[in-house]
Amino acid sequence: MAFCKACGQDIGDAAFCPKCGANQGVGAPGAAASGESPTAGIEENIAGLLCYLFHWVSGLIFLLLDKRSFVRFHAGQAIGFNIAAAP
Ligand SMILES: [Zn+2]
Repeated sequence: MAFCKACGQDIGDAAFCPKCGANQGVGAPGAAASGESPTAGIEENIAGLLCYLFHWVSGLIFLLLDKRSFVRFHAGQAIGFNIAAAP
C-alpha cells in the first residue's frame, strides 16, 4: 500500500495517483516521462550539465523545453555566462 506523494491519497500499487494524477516515480524513468517535456526523460543533473555543452544555444533549448526549476536555472546561467564571456 502506498500514498500519493502530492496529495496523500491512498493509491495502492498504482504508478499514478487516481485523484490528482501525480507520477509516483514507479517504473522506468524514461517511460514515466511520457506526456511531459521532451527533455523530462533526462536526469536533472545531466540536463543541467547539457545546458553548457553548446554555449548559449543548448541553454536556450533547455530553457524553452524543460519545466524543472533546477534545469531552467542552469539553462539561464548558461545563456548569461556565455553572453558575458563572449568576445
Ligand atoms: Zn495525488
